[in-house]
Amino acid sequence: MQLYCESLTEYKRLKTREVKIGDLLLGNFHPIRVQTMTTTDTMDTIATVEQSIRCIEAGSELVRITAPSKTEAENLLNIKNELRKRGYSTPLIADIHFTPNAAEIAARIVEKVRVNPGNYVDKKKFEQIEYTNAEYAEEIDRIRERFTPLVKICKEYGTAMRIGTNHGSLSDRIMSRYGDTPIGMVESAMEFLRIARGETYHNIILSMKSSNPQVMVQAYRLLIKTMQDEFGEIYPLHLGVTEAGDGEDGRIKSAIGIGTLLEDGIGDTIRVSLTEDPEFEIPVCKDLVKRYVSSESGVVSREVGKRESQKESLNNSGKSSQLPYSPFEYKRRETFAVDNIGGKHVPVVVADLSKIEKITASHLQSIGYTYDAATDKWTIGDAAADYIFTGNQLLNFALPGTLKVIVYPAAWVEAQDKEKYFPIFSDSGYAETNVKSESINFVMIDCNGNDVENTYLEKIANDPTVVICLSSTNRNAMQSVRSMFAAFMRKNILNPVVLISDSNWQTPDEHLIHFATETGALFLDGMGDGICLGYTSTAQINSLKTTGRTYLEVKDNYQFTNNTAFSILQATRTRISKTEYISCPSCGRTLFDLQETTAKIRAVTNHLKGVKIAIMGCIVNGPGEMADADFGYVGSGPGKITLYKGKEVMKRNVNSEVAVEELINLIKENDAWVEV
Ligand code: SF4
Repeated sequence: MQLYCESLTEYKRLKTREVKIGDLLLGNFHPIRVQTMTTTDTMDTIATVEQSIRCIEAGSELVRITAPSKTEAENLLNIKNELRKRGYSTPLIADIHFTPNAAEIAARIVEKVRVNPGNYVDKKKFEQIEYTNAEYAEEIDRIRERFTPLVKICKEYGTAMRIGTNHGSLSDRIMSRYGDTPIGMVESAMEFLRIARGETYHNIILSMKSSNPQVMVQAYRLLIKTMQDEFGEIYPLHLGVTEAGDGEDGRIKSAIGIGTLLEDGIGDTIRVSLTEDPEFEIPVCKDLVKRYVSSESGVVSREVGKRESQKESLNNSGKSSQLPYSPFEYKRRETFAVDNIGGKHVPVVVADLSKIEKITASHLQSIGYTYDAATDKWTIGDAAADYIFTGNQLLNFALPGTLKVIVYPAAWVEAQDKEKYFPIFSDSGYAETNVKSESINFVMIDCNGNDVENTYLEKIANDPTVVICLSSTNRNAMQSVRSMFAAFMRKNILNPVVLISDSNWQTPDEHLIHFATETGALFLDGMGDGICLGYTSTAQINSLKTTGRTYLEVKDNYQFTNNTAFSILQATRTRISKTEYISCPSCGRTLFDLQETTAKIRAVTNHLKGVKIAIMGCIVNGPGEMADADFGYVGSGPGKITLYKGKEVMKRNVNSEVAVEELINLIKENDAWVEV
């Protein structure tokens, strides 16, 4: 294993223990299982059964149902019986928080229980207590006493268990000692896992969810390393980004978090949490997983996973385990600035307009620039591209002040305005030419396999005018680009880098997942000073509008890629250009219509750049799970909403009719509001 995965240079699945959930096998190279969770009231047997069936029909291989108390746990039997009566044998999972009693009932009924170690035995009081080692050990003994009965029941009934840590709901004990860090998340799960292993119970799956993909990815990696170091084996992993939200942003956040790990062969089951009906999560799960499925066998890259790597090292020098960066913490790669790219600048967005035959001022509207002919002025949006790539075209209209153009060298020679136009070369072309810009030269390098020894690199490296554009058409594209970054770090090459990703998929969801996975995985590791997204062919562009199966309506392809680029930067927290919403996916505990409310709140706050707003369905878990939101809108009773600033209650039990208005007032009172 290389630090946290089987291979850092090609797709190879991580070997994990095999776990049995009913008749379903998971881990140990079995296909990556997809799952979701119902949003109905668990006491409404028929509604829950029917929603479960819709999820199963959509392809869900496991269905999770909330069991907040003993009554709901008991009703799982009616739900299970009704499903079996209707011919569905899909394993069910009981979702437990706070109530060991409910867990112990559910574990005798369903095939799997999910416990949250942050609140299974502990009540969260947000207390900061200093624990001595003896006091801490006493706490662990207390947990052992409360948790062991559940382990014994699971063992007796053959029930599987997920120890599911959530970044936002760590216990006071963990918070006091480790803070809300990836290490704290890992330790939170390990405490429970050690107890279960002590009982020789191994039918366990683990998860490390967070609404922040950066934290989530680091926590999973750290968990793998910790299990390997401590036990010499790894339990299967359930991947998910919590409270990802809805629409494009929810998909991108999930794709970045889940996709980054899948790319490294990590993950045995996934759930994409969207604030949409649960059956709509399944196609997104499938789109994520199918990138790793061998088309003939339908089996998730088992052959690839088992193949011995020919190229174990990142630099072909045998130093595979010595990464020049830490995959467990975020640190942006050090670069010098070339104009506004690299150094301390936020990553730039380059819009590829080269496939438009004749670019006009109105085309720029798609990428954030609106021209008003009457006043002869441009309005620039928060998500306006910084550069456009036009191929061989020089534009015959005046450009907005902040926008610059990248063209091929022959066109650049013809361009009058050398402050606005900059050339893009192939690596060999740049090495051989004497005609270059004095300020910015873009140089393309195709990361070809793991061959990071680029013939022309010497002439390009640390040239203060060069911005390197990295792309790869390899099967292991992300890994190839990452290997090149690692080589740059080792060789102390400090040029800024723009990541180029082209998609040859078909539907908007597939394109989103492709872009988010390939570039997001790199941004999460601090690699990349710019992003440029495109399609391999014009047919791909046209297909965006014509494909039927999509939940994202694409009216404008260029707007789609531009927004996707900004959303990837937002989700990786490398460039904030809009309001961030952390909304729970809803479940049987939800106290209001989450989808409708999220849409309502979004409509009035989506101009608050950088403000994080959480919309959570219940007061039981909501406040704990809204992570680092600035403001929270949390259901606290039928028709009642409690409003938070950070983790502090500001307005309790507000009538839901006026709650959105009160949220706006709260934002205003805290000087975070701006007029549109
Ligand atoms: S926060 Fe949302 S998803 Fe989580 S338990 Fe409450 S209602 Fe369910």
